[in-house]
Amino acid sequence: MAKIKRFTSKDGGYHGELGFYCPGCDCVHFIYDKESNAPSMPVWGFNGNFESPTVTPSVLVQNKTMRCHSFITDGNIQFLPDCTHDLAGKTIELEDID
Ligand SMILES: [Zn+2]
Repeated sequence: MAKIKRFTSKDGGYHGELGFYCPGCDCVHFIYDKESNAPSMPVWGFNGNFESPTVTPSVLVQNKTMRCHSFITDGNIQFLPDCTHDLAGKTIELEDID
């Protein structure tokens, strides 16, 4: 099973973005890599392994009320201490996404 997924137009995606389920926020976060078609967006490095993804650099999602900052390495998500949710400072295995 895959822990990260490329969302195409079939899946409701727009730019071939990569999505993973974040258990801290209880939602899917999206990033872009060099295979995504989103020229004006930041591009992350992705090891191409959907079962055991590594993404660099860190992923930061924030708005006025929340902040979620993580590293994804070998299929695990490491939440940095500056997250506003309960999993701040913890590292856990990513859940499958389909
Ligand atoms: Zn999150």
